[in-house]
Formats: sequence, C-alpha cells, structure tokens
Amino acid sequence: MDEETRREWGALVADVRELLRYEEDLRGFLPEAGDAAQHRAGADAQRDVGLPSQDPSVQRASTQRASTQGPSSQGVSLEILTTEAASCTDCALHRGRTRSVFARGSATADLVFVGEGPGFHEDQQGRPFVGPAGKLLDRMISAMKFRPEDVYICNIVKCRPPQNRTPVPAEAEACARFLVPQLEAVAPRAMVALGRCAAENLGQTEPGGRGWRGRWGSFRGIPVMSTYHPAFLLRSPQFKRAVWEDLQSVMARLGNPEGA
Ligand code: SF4
Repeated sequence: MDEETRREWGALVADVRELLRYEEDLRGFLPEAGDAAQHRAGADAQRDVGLPSQDPSVQRASTQRASTQGPSSQGVSLEILTTEAASCTDCALHRGRTRSVFARGSATADLVFVGEGPGFHEDQQGRPFVGPAGKLLDRMISAMKFRPEDVYICNIVKCRPPQNRTPVPAEAEACARFLVPQLEAVAPRAMVALGRCAAENLGQTEPGGRGWRGRWGSFRGIPVMSTYHPAFLLRSPQFKRAVWEDLQSVMARLGNPEGA
C-alpha cells in the first residue's frame, strides 16, 4: 500500500468514526431517510445525471427549463455538459482525476446543493457527495422532507483537487463554463451553497469575508442560501443547529416550513 492510499484509508476511517458520532448526536433531530419518501410521492420522474444518460428526456427536460433562464444557457443539455467535462483539460485538476464528477439527482429539481469539489470517493465513483459528508448531506435533505434523488447536487469544480484542497480561483473560473449552464439548465427555485468556497464562487461573499453563513443572496436570479459544508459539520457538530436553521429557511421559501 503506497503512502497516498494509506493516507486516504486513514482519512476514511477518521471520517467514518466522525460520522458515527455525529449520527448518534443527530438521533431525534433528523429523521430517517425513509420518512421523507412519503412526503414526495408523486414527484417528477427522477433521473440520475451524474453520468451520461441515454434517456433523451434528460436533454429535453433540461433544455426546456434552460430556455427560460436567459441567453447564457442557450439550450445546452446536461448530458452534453457531462460528456464534455469527462474529457475536459481546461485546468490542471484534470491531471489528477480518475473521472470527472458532474452531478447527481433530478435534472428538474426545485432545490440545488452546490459543494466545493470531489473528494477521494467521488473521484473513484464519478458521483458527488458519496462519502461520509455525502451521507450526512443525504440525511439533511431527508430532514427537509425531500428524497436525495428529488434534489440536484453538484460542485464548483468537477475534478478532484489534490489532497482535497480548496480549488484555487483559476480552477473555479475554468470550471464555471460547466457550472453556470448546469445551474441555468436545472433552473431550481432555490440553491444552497455548501461551504465558503461555494458561497464565494457563487458570488455570495467576498474572499475571506465574514458573516457569510445564513444569508440569502442570488445567483443569476436564483435565490441562494449559504451554509456550512457537511464535511465541516462532521468535524464541528456544534454548528448543526445553525445549519438546520438555514435549511428551514430554504424549506419555508419552497413552501414547506414544517421540516423534520
Ligand atoms: S475541474 Fe473543470 S475546468 Fe478543470 S479540468 Fe475538470 S472539468 Fe475541466
């Protein structure tokens, strides 16, 4: 086992321990994922858009939504963007990727979560938020009375930064050519920026700005709530109530103020 693999396994074990501790802490606060399914029965047909789909309805739905969102989307389909990102070499991050990580969830979602970038597990599987932080995110989504497949989840950059570092501005700017049409194609009613990196790159705060969490802003006409990243909550569970308040504000905006 080489040094990199040993580090990854060490980080994984630590993450799993944190997740188990955090889930214990959440008991009674966030419901089981199965509860949320009952609240969204009959929702739009769901599609996994993390990998290129053969289903032409994915392109049709996204193009129809994008057509209402201004000139920059130009009817670009999520499927085409996903394929282009898979072979993109526009920034240095392509050198270290196993595969690009475009999105998961519904192409017609009312709610979009935007994180920072893929980690080890995401890079391996080609899907965002599949490690411990992703499992916590899914529980948060369930607490909001959504199923994870009802929402759309993506990242600022589509390729994994080395050692999971924060993407540098040049990388985020390069990858905006995917992110902007991606968000405009889905055209959600609200978005959640997960973590400072996402909030900064969606224009919700200045680099290094204070007081960015818990505030509503907008990105190209889409309301955005900025809150902490689930990976941060795994390390600092004392902030979970603050995040829950932010998510309740999102639910109220979407017409579901009840929550968990
Ligand atoms: S991070 Fe984005 S811009 Fe950079 S290589 Fe990957 S897909 Fe291209």
